[in-house]
Amino acid sequence: MTCRIAVFGTGYLGATHAACMAELGHEVLGVDVDPAKLSKLHAGEVPFYEPGLEEVLKRNIENGRLRFSSSYEEAAQFADVHFIGVGTPQKKGEFAADLTYVDAVIETLAPLLTTPAVIFGKSTVPVGTAERLGRRARQLAPAGDQVEVAWNPEFLREGFAVKDTLHPDRLVLGVDQGRPGRAEEVARSVYSQLLDEGIPFLVTDLATSELVKTAANAFLATKISFINAMAEVCEAAGADVTVLADAIGHDVRIGRRFLNAGIGFGGGCLPKDIRAFMARAGEIGADEALTFLREVDNINMRRRTRMVELVREVVGGSLIGSRIAVLGAAFKPDSDDVRDSPALNIAGQIQLQGASVSVFDPKAIENSRRIFPTLNYASSVNEACSGADAVLVLTEWDQFKQLKPSDLDSIVRNTIIIDGRNCLDRDLWVDAGWEFTAVGVASERRASTLP
Ligand code: NAD
Repeated sequence: MTCRIAVFGTGYLGATHAACMAELGHEVLGVDVDPAKLSKLHAGEVPFYEPGLEEVLKRNIENGRLRFSSSYEEAAQFADVHFIGVGTPQKKGEFAADLTYVDAVIETLAPLLTTPAVIFGKSTVPVGTAERLGRRARQLAPAGDQVEVAWNPEFLREGFAVKDTLHPDRLVLGVDQGRPGRAEEVARSVYSQLLDEGIPFLVTDLATSELVKTAANAFLATKISFINAMAEVCEAAGADVTVLADAIGHDVRIGRRFLNAGIGFGGGCLPKDIRAFMARAGEIGADEALTFLREVDNINMRRRTRMVELVREVVGGSLIGSRIAVLGAAFKPDSDDVRDSPALNIAGQIQLQGASVSVFDPKAIENSRRIFPTLNYASSVNEACSGADAVLVLTEWDQFKQLKPSDLDSIVRNTIIIDGRNCLDRDLWVDAGWEFTAVGVASERRASTLP
């Protein structure tokens, strides 16, 4: 059955969700408050880099199933299924999530709802938010109790957003179990093609659905920080964290994925989500349960400072006057997202310590320039590496993984490379005479001298 859907917020999550819901055959209106974003979307352009999304967007604009607007009135008249996909960033100076944007959607939309409607939240929110928003929506809406708020957390990964939306590994729906309504039935129609594919569909209460998302992110962050803690121990012990990860990863209870040591996690989700989770646990009297996440966060942030120290070491003890090439600015490959990006953060710290830093990223330069205007940005790997005293690979783009020593030999000043993502072939670089340092492996320079 075709549904009429409005999606509020057309960022990484919302634009992808809107385009993919149209791809499933629904009629969709994407709503945002950012006119620049809307005019790009109108023109069939994705305002950020996400592989495969532009094709889906263009196809569905052309076939008339997908439109964009800034008008909540239009959305309320057009749709009876609404998705909230606005941001929930970290509050300034606090760990808690800033719910201003999510609240604004309800405050603006609900008073316009004169007929029955289901509002599905997709944004990542602290437990208890959905229930509060449901109460508020029923209060504000002329349709009163016929307006339902349910939660349908989103698990998409940037870089795989289209595939993850059209073929997720699970769908989770939280419904207000004290007020049985139509949310499950409506979700089943929206996602009927996915359910026919046999994708697991878990229906639960509102609180559990909100916690599923934050728990999943807390687990992933913990896995990354675990291997990064092992990297610290390996460096001290003269061991090799990559072999260690391969070996423990063969145990199916552990698994190899997300066990890549490096400069740690970043982006618009994991860092702020684990902090918001800790803050919320404190508010509901469960803070002790999540104190370990503070250490997960500490280990992660320590990766960045350790990388800066490492760079200082390889250039001879002081960064002042050195030239450093930074390859990678996005928080992960196949994305232009630089929110809380470890790569950019490290580039900034190195510059503050007196180095001249030249950054190249295949897609994230524009966003980087916006949040870090004082760094130098290069338009190619060669330009970034020209005259460099050390080359750092900080985001594992394929383009960087495929680099060969002969590509850079005659360009750099010193043949020194640091692999911040353990994504390069060590032997290739060492055999070509480069000084090669990876994460979680004792380098010749830092040869182990165990007590
Ligand atoms: P984003 O910043 O890219 O997009 C948010 C959009 O909401 C912006 O375009 C903004 O202009 C718009 N907006 C703000 N206020 C609005 C309003 N009142 N009405 C309509 N639009 C409004 O953020 P994002 O990365 O898409 O994340 C959105 C939510 O999804 C967050 O809660 C995030 O944690 C969650 N999430 C994101 C991802 C991801 O990979 N990016 C994955 C899963 C969950």
